[in-house]
Amino acid sequence: MRSTGMLIIISGPSGSGKGTVVNNLKDADIEYALSISLTTRKKRPGEVNGVDYFFCTESEFKSKRDQNELLEHAVFCNNLYGTPRAYVEEQIELGKAVILEIEVNGALQVKEKFSEAVLVFLIPPTFEELANRLTTRNTESRETIKDRLRRARDEIRLIDKYDYLVLNDEVGLAVDRINCIVKSEFLKPCRNKVLIDNLSEHV
Ligand code: 5GP
Repeated sequence: MRSTGMLIIISGPSGSGKGTVVNNLKDADIEYALSISLTTRKKRPGEVNGVDYFFCTESEFKSKRDQNELLEHAVFCNNLYGTPRAYVEEQIELGKAVILEIEVNGALQVKEKFSEAVLVFLIPPTFEELANRLTTRNTESRETIKDRLRRARDEIRLIDKYDYLVLNDEVGLAVDRINCIVKSEFLKPCRNKVLIDNLSEHV
């Protein structure tokens, strides 16, 4: 009886474990759809085009942005990132819980356009843990790690713009917490207009 799907944005500093948590999101009662972003960042070893990201050149990115094909876009540590609009709109129409794993500026752009979007901020237990995860995953240079930690401090200052805070002390627990948020959000009257209208007709 759901009248519409939902947009759930998951942000959090580099190293907070967003990717792992998002890839493990699963629940018998929720149909998740994962948005795949467009980026000009170089592919890391093991990443697959069309699975992890749609990798593109700066001019390809700008052309899509200028044709209004992106729901939001932002610069992050010298690379461009954006959410392809068509997939998100189509999946919301199908009643899905659409997950965008994006940084804070993009998240706030989406919230401005879609006030019903749910903003979730994922945090690691400590800042030391964050630095440790970034260093040991061995995917970035020392300079990039520094840049990302600087950026992490800026992002953490914007936490109060988010609707929910989720601690990622253990992937399974973080997934359970997000499932709880999504289930509760689906119970809000504003997301169940069809059900309410049907009831109202018989009162
Ligand atoms: P990474 O380079 O580590 O894959 O991603 C860097 C940052 O960009 C992460 O915070 C990630 O969530 C964010 N990001 C990924 N895709 C998008 C997107 O489409 N839009 C925005 N605004 N940020 C994104």
